[in-house]
Amino acid sequence: MKQDPIADAIAAMIPAARTELAELVAFRSVADPDVSPLGESERAARWIAAALRAEEFTDVSVVDMSDGRQSVYGFLPGPPGTPTVLLYAHFDVQPALDESAWTSPPFTLTERDGRWYGRGAADCKGAVLMHLLALRALRAHGGPPVNVKVIVEGSEEQGTGGLEDYARAHPGLLAADAVLVADAGNVRCGVPTVTAALRGITMLRVRVETLRGDLHSGQFGGPAPDALLALLKILDSLTGDDGATRVRGLSADGTWPGVDYPEADFRRDAGLLDGVRLTGTGSVGDRLWARPSVGVMGIDCPPVAGATPTLHATARAAISLRLPPGQDAVTATSLLTAHIRRHTPWGARVSVEPLGQGEPFRADTSGAAYRAMEEAMAVAYPGQAVRLGGFGGGIPLCNALADLYPRAEILLIGLSEPEANIHAVDESVSVDELRRLATAEAHFLRTYAAAKSRCGA
Ligand SMILES: [Zn+2]
Repeated sequence: MKQDPIADAIAAMIPAARTELAELVAFRSVADPDVSPLGESERAARWIAAALRAEEFTDVSVVDMSDGRQSVYGFLPGPPGTPTVLLYAHFDVQPALDESAWTSPPFTLTERDGRWYGRGAADCKGAVLMHLLALRALRAHGGPPVNVKVIVEGSEEQGTGGLEDYARAHPGLLAADAVLVADAGNVRCGVPTVTAALRGITMLRVRVETLRGDLHSGQFGGPAPDALLALLKILDSLTGDDGATRVRGLSADGTWPGVDYPEADFRRDAGLLDGVRLTGTGSVGDRLWARPSVGVMGIDCPPVAGATPTLHATARAAISLRLPPGQDAVTATSLLTAHIRRHTPWGARVSVEPLGQGEPFRADTSGAAYRAMEEAMAVAYPGQAVRLGGFGGGIPLCNALADLYPRAEILLIGLSEPEANIHAVDESVSVDELRRLATAEAHFLRTYAAAKSRCGA
């Protein structure tokens, strides 16, 4: 095997990285004051700022955002005339959910079978270590060959938009030639992936009213319209018999050009029960990343325990609609609203209220940074070709950066492969993926710098 001093340096730094990630995971930096005190986020932010200062970053600052959260910014100047690369991660995490359901305590990083378990280990505190490992390996071998900016966000999971607001208000701050967003993941452990598509989303609240008050169903049932049944008819109209999303005017026949997701793998990852069929049409990739997908987030209705034979005067539901790249959330919201109104039966009164939306994202994969990442991944994952993947969650900052810096190339990689169980109980990061992706990142910075100096010359 070829010698790779960068890979060797990173492998040697893994034990120290484990200690550091354990410190970072120990901060309960859930960006929700009801779940976790604000001080935990502040301590995580200060930890990251100190780590950047130790790497000789200049201009390190913990910046207050419009949503009351903080992000950490740092700049590390490279050789004069070299391009600028922005490295992104976030330090806020999802709540631990049911702590007693975890195999080991969620905020105590614990090793089992080549993985480190803990909330945020993969999403996305591990990525902070991934960036640090790449930069440290480069520092040990001649220094980073580009100008490096780092931004580590404190409220990504809440979707409150603090960093997007800040970036728009300070358009110079995050300006870069290439952006490495380390908040996605390989399609499978050991399969190098650059994520090229992110789903968008729109969410609505629907309220149906039919009666002035609830009624005895023995006395009035039959002629008197039940609001809950009306709501169920509306919800039923959103999918066909095959379970495919069916919203009038919203196309649902897109095809996914990237790597497909084998059905058997998908069934296993999703935990489908034996005998239960997949919903929708097309390949699994089409359904996930090229077509819309509707969901019911919740319904307000009486619980089964204590339920009585009553006609319901009102009913409410919250609906989500995931959107593939190419569809826009504003148009989808109005199509979904019109669909709901059209499918409301019996002249029932219906009101539809938007609950928030995020645009889908598609990366331009034709530039120098993508070529550089292909070369870098080939070093870190010998014998494997890079796949273009899709990713379920939106990362609103990607759209903000694409608007602000239309010439910047945006690449999404990360540690959140399917086994990482992000947002769930027993989240973990693969130590091997951390080592390989940090190696790929370091090689990417070198290869990209070389490619840019060739086209500059
Ligand atoms: Zn994340």
